[in-house]
Amino acid sequence: MTKTYKSFYLIDKIIKSIKSQFPKKCSCGKVFHNFKDFIENTSLPAPQSLQIFDCYDIHEILSLRNCKNCHSTIAIRCMLDDIDKKVLLDLIKKDIKMNNLEEDEFLQLFRNEVIKCATRKNNYEK
Ligand SMILES: [Zn+2]
Repeated sequence: MTKTYKSFYLIDKIIKSIKSQFPKKCSCGKVFHNFKDFIENTSLPAPQSLQIFDCYDIHEILSLRNCKNCHSTIAIRCMLDDIDKKVLLDLIKKDIKMNNLEEDEFLQLFRNEVIKCATRKNNYEK
């Protein structure tokens, strides 16, 4: 059983904002029909810590991935409104402090959880 963190409760909203970005078309013409399709047909650029957010700001970009077809970089945006962003940021800070985690460690965890939840069968089908 995965440990749940306070900030994880906003994941549903993040996923909704991610889903609204599909279908998405790469500059090479490849169409990603949904988020799962996108995860399966892109790869993380190295170094892995390139993007997401830091603890001082939620960046517009949640994750950058490379198209497996043409290697272009494609951004997934975190389209939360400003209030949700503030709440999320506060919760992330609390999670890190209360669980004695490294910032990077937690943000990786958070991103992995978003991807895990978003690619669950009943979640990626429209
Ligand atoms: Zn492409």
